Amino acid sequence: MSDLAICATCAVQFDVPVDDPPASCPICSDPRQYVGHGGQRWTSLDELRRENRSVTRPQGDFLGVGSDGHIGIGQRALLVPYGDSNLLWDCVALLDDALVEEIEARGGLAGIVISHPHYWSTMVDWAHRFDCPIHLPRVDEPWVMRPDPAISFWDGDTLALDHGLSVHRLGGHFPGASALHVPAVDGRRAALLTGDLPLAAADRRWVSFMWSYPNMVPLPADEVRRIAGILAGLDFDVLHSAFWDQQVDDAWSAVQRSADRYIAALQSIPEV
Ligand SMILES: [Zn+2]
Repeated sequence: MSDLAICATCAVQFDVPVDDPPASCPICSDPRQYVGHGGQRWTSLDELRRENRSVTRPQGDFLGVGSDGHIGIGQRALLVPYGDSNLLWDCVALLDDALVEEIEARGGLAGIVISHPHYWSTMVDWAHRFDCPIHLPRVDEPWVMRPDPAISFWDGDTLALDHGLSVHRLGGHFPGASALHVPAVDGRRAALLTGDLPLAAADRRWVSFMWSYPNMVPLPADEVRRIAGILAGLDFDVLHSAFWDQQVDDAWSAVQRSADRYIAALQSIPEV
């Protein structure tokens, strides 16, 4: 449905037409986002397609998917090899014919997995176009703005997928905030794909752990310690977070070192 309302600030699509939008976007009214500085604005997939073109380029061992113009929060998604097909990790609002053609040529999509509600965007359109399920943690169901049978809610702390891939619920940023673990295979390094948690820092030897990124509100030390503990149990060499080129190498150590620095910063002046 290309004329459904999409929030211009977070790019999440709602199940109402753009000419009859909600009074506000609950996702952007929440302290982890913000209402656009000119007030709440709406767009649609039709409008985004008129004004933007999809862009793909490699991100380490994966294919990054985004657009030439800034849409919503500006994240890119990743196409992750999955047997003869692919998984889409995170999602972007712009799905145009060129992108559909490129993904079909690479084997299509077997599923969509998204780190947290800020990146849900037009996930239902993607699922319908590629006839695949969307896997979301049930604890984040209240944030779904366009309910659809393609959405499959999972419970608990991990979701085991095929081909050795697994989704790990970290919480913290959102109750269901998750990361995708991709094991080493076919010469690819083991990878942790995250959204905002942890997020690569400007210095790519470090990551960070915030509750609200745009409003710069940290997570409590206990939460960072808990999340670092979950990630300590996973084996990965490289981390990609939500935006273009946010690749962290030697990532397992970087995550643990960054958690220590972050906790120290919350408790005292950090040693750097
Ligand atoms: Zn919004």
